[in-house]
Amino acid sequence: MQAINERTPALETVGGIRAKGFATRCVHAGVDQDDSYKSATTPIYPTSTFGWHGLGKPATYDYTRSGNPTRRALEENLAALDGGVDCRATSTGMSAVTAAMNLFEAGDHVIAGHDIYGGTYRLFADVLPKLGIDVSFVDLSDVGNIDAAKTDKTKGLWIETPSNPLLNILDVGKLVDAAKKHGLVTIADNTFLSPALFRPIEHGVDVVVHSATKYLNGHSDVVGGAVVCGSDEHAQRISYVVNAMGLAQSPFDSWLTLRGVKTLGPRVRQHCDNAMKVAMFLKEHGEVERVYYPGLGDHPGHDLAKTQFDGFGGMVSFDLKGGFEKAKRVMPSAELILLAESLGGIESLWEHPWSMSHVSMSEAARRTAGIGEGLVRLSVGIEDAGDLIADLDRALSA
Ligand code: PLP
Repeated sequence: MQAINERTPALETVGGIRAKGFATRCVHAGVDQDDSYKSATTPIYPTSTFGWHGLGKPATYDYTRSGNPTRRALEENLAALDGGVDCRATSTGMSAVTAAMNLFEAGDHVIAGHDIYGGTYRLFADVLPKLGIDVSFVDLSDVGNIDAAKTDKTKGLWIETPSNPLLNILDVGKLVDAAKKHGLVTIADNTFLSPALFRPIEHGVDVVVHSATKYLNGHSDVVGGAVVCGSDEHAQRISYVVNAMGLAQSPFDSWLTLRGVKTLGPRVRQHCDNAMKVAMFLKEHGEVERVYYPGLGDHPGHDLAKTQFDGFGGMVSFDLKGGFEKAKRVMPSAELILLAESLGGIESLWEHPWSMSHVSMSEAARRTAGIGEGLVRLSVGIEDAGDLIADLDRALSA
């Protein structure tokens, strides 16, 4: 596996910096723009509006829903990290998903993986059909399923890899080839890996969405999202939609996310190291039926993950022997690991997909996706691995 910096191509035009290295871009892209005072950090502009120079002469920014210098710094930073031509920072991950799905219109059909984030599933299954956009959920581990699901109305392909919560790995190159063959727009939700480990645009994906609530911000103190586009055509449409629908991030939350993203590189490395240790511990534990972590050699997507990503990520899922009843005893018993939804923060969290993150999927849909009652999804934080393992050991004996 190559180091992040070796794989990241030169991106000299986005974010105002010349650096090739990923960590350097995290710290500097979009940030170094205060020519008045040379402040080391981006100022927060907590203003709703901006004065005009005269009639017909607006300043660079006119109204914060449409644009704000603090948010712009974050957008330039994220575009540079994901290798896109531009980015829009949104108020939540779901508003990023909403903006991206506005690339389609009534009458269009989209194909999505069947084991995607529950909130995205709810939007696709419940809300978008009422607006005339239909989504089919298929198992994208078999690329042939795209041909089977495609109709003459199909316009898009929605990819989430590793999938949530089972961490299935999709072959993005093959999916993009199939999508291109049918003229589909490909959108990838890159929340679980972040651009530190995967940059879908390099693999031909058209549009990337993130819940910035997770690894990008990384400190569990913001909800936010981002849409990064690989082409000007998509970037212009997303910019229009984010303004028209009022989906943009606030200046203060943009600033917090920008502060968080500066440490993305080292944070993600620590998440990955800890997750591998935790996965190996869980694999040997008597109370655990099965561990899902792409870093383990026996994970079905291990070889693909090794070539496609720059690391295996910080998420580990596992089935408990004893199902729901065991989960009810174990999960509130940890001292360090908080029983809570969300992921990607520096502190470890775990949640029960069956009754929490994926409860908006029907029981049948959860079973089809392979989500059982004993499944636990653990977001491994950056604490000392030994403390996390001791905490898990204690809780598992509950
Ligand atoms: N995409 C994925 C993969 C997620 O896990 C989540 C939230 O958990 C979202 C999108 C939605 O993000 P948010 O909660 O910031 O709206």
